[in-house]
Amino acid sequence: MPLIVQKFGGSSVADAQKILAAARKAIRAQQEGNQVVMVVSAMGDTTDDLLDLAYQVNERPPAREMDMLLSTGEQVSVALMAMAIESLGHKAVSLTGGQIGIRTDSTHTKARIRSVSTERMRKLLEAGNIVIAAGFQGMDEDWNITTLGRGGSDTTAVALAAVLQADTCEIYTDVDGVYTTDPRVVPEARRMSRISYDEMLELASLGAGVMHNRAVEFGKKFDVPIHVRSSFSDVPGTMIVNEPESRDVPVSGCAMTKSEARITLVGVPDRPGSSLAVFSRLAKRAITVDMVVQNIGEDGKADISFTVPQDELRATLEAVQEAAQELGIERITHDDQVAKVSVVGLGMARQTGVADRMFQALAEAGINIQMITTSEIKISVLVRRDEALPALRVVHATFELDRPPADGVSETRPSKPTPAAQCPVDVVQRLATMDMEGLFIDDVVLDQSQARVTIRGVPDVPGVAAKVFEEVAAAKVFVDMIVQSYNGKEGQATLSFTVPKTQLDAAMTVAKRLATDFKCQGVSSSPDIAKLSVSGIGLRSHTGVAMRMFDALAEAGINLAMINTSEVRVNVVVDGKAGEKGLASLQKAFGDVLR
Ligand code: ADP
Ligand code: ASP
Ligand code: MG
Repeated sequence: MPLIVQKFGGSSVADAQKILAAARKAIRAQQEGNQVVMVVSAMGDTTDDLLDLAYQVNERPPAREMDMLLSTGEQVSVALMAMAIESLGHKAVSLTGGQIGIRTDSTHTKARIRSVSTERMRKLLEAGNIVIAAGFQGMDEDWNITTLGRGGSDTTAVALAAVLQADTCEIYTDVDGVYTTDPRVVPEARRMSRISYDEMLELASLGAGVMHNRAVEFGKKFDVPIHVRSSFSDVPGTMIVNEPESRDVPVSGCAMTKSEARITLVGVPDRPGSSLAVFSRLAKRAITVDMVVQNIGEDGKADISFTVPQDELRATLEAVQEAAQELGIERITHDDQVAKVSVVGLGMARQTGVADRMFQALAEAGINIQMITTSEIKISVLVRRDEALPALRVVHATFELDRPPADGVSETRPSKPTPAAQCPVDVVQRLATMDMEGLFIDDVVLDQSQARVTIRGVPDVPGVAAKVFEEVAAAKVFVDMIVQSYNGKEGQATLSFTVPKTQLDAAMTVAKRLATDFKCQGVSSSPDIAKLSVSGIGLRSHTGVAMRMFDALAEAGINLAMINTSEVRVNVVVDGKAGEKGLASLQKAFGDVLR
């Protein structure tokens, strides 16, 4: 019998009427011949209210007790849902995460799922019940209740769909699908008929709150088609699957995270192990770091800048102060009034001129870019918080995201769209392994075809990056990585990018001319660099990946020149001569998880 998982978010179960409406949807699916597992979130704003209460009694509530508290929200809704279904004349049983057998690690408030037992759910389904699972929660080895992080009910749903090998996983929410950006923020946003796992993963981790990023990780790892749709209408919604909506468009969506903070460590000793000393401390606290930029060191010192969610600033500063003492860092600066705006698209990897279109649009709107990081399928910029929304709008308009792509698929296909053979791993094999959310690495690669250009002392005003990449594109130079960082000196930034070795001269001609025009401090280049990449799934949320890379490279005595991260890849640039050695050390470091 086909099996379907239906997840209902907080607003879809916000009151008794809505609970009854959701109950009817599940009953209908059962009557159509499916076994049905429902995953339910806490009602309305319950989780926020509980958090609020916790902070009223304790400024720093213990994480274990926080989980004990927050998990009650979901327990209320599953019980009510079971009662609602019973009142409509059907059989239902509600279960907490612990009762299902959702085993997690012990990282309270951000726990990761290790394994899920299917036995109890199967028995109940076979007896004709609708199974109602509490989202967002599990239990660790010592029977402590854990929660999976805000928005984590999506992750419960896709995890259950994976272990039960469900035919589809429906995410019912208060929008009728995944849009090119948040439709509440940019009304012109367009609903996509489908989106690839990779794009959704990036968008979710860069601010698109419609899906929890770790849910998308599960979808990709275990080949679960995810159908995002409205609780309140019958619009077909959006399928999250292997294939993108369009192969041609460079950008398929954009997102912002409004509450970011930037931290800059000025005068870090430029030697192997410095990054490790900083980021290992953050990883230990499970703080997700983004936009990591290390400036090329001058006189033996480097600056490291990175961003973290604003609410983790305090913990981050604690961690970097520890590192500062160990390393002898000159000073630490931070800015908690910044926001990150990103564009995402699989098509970007095959086109030139995408970055400069984005920078140009921002320059024309008078918006200053403080930091830049790129990966194969995303470009992120850091801007002043009060300019984030205009920046998002401008970017959305520039890439004409309101228009359906000419080659796009128009209908949503709710059935399983890709053969399981395309799944990155043997699903059955992965399900048999204990650690479902464990690290998944599929490749370690060395690229020695690139060279680096660095412009130092770039004035921190709108339009410089736009001009640089416009002229570089006009010279037909293909730019791979771009990083721009705030460099600790007021009003100045450092801009580095990589280009094919064969195009270094052309890129340098442009860079030198513009550096003079803009009165920058100087231009330098390195014809001999090596890019080392580790690729896999969910690399950003696995805070340990970059750390393992830094650790391995530091041990091999290799210094890092540039770093960039995305959900599917972490890249570091090192000295060209260290390439082979670096590759070997990474292969060794990831040997245990490399598929
Ligand atoms: P639920 O409680 O059902 O999990 P969420 O509030 O977590 O719902 O997610 C739905 C919300 O996500 C929408 O109301 C919308 O404002 C927001 N959102 C952000 N980005 C997007 C996007 N790209 N497409 C659709 N919705 C988005
Ligand atoms: N109730 C939890 C939250 O608000 C989990 C969820 O809704 O996904 O974050
Ligand atoms: Mg949600």
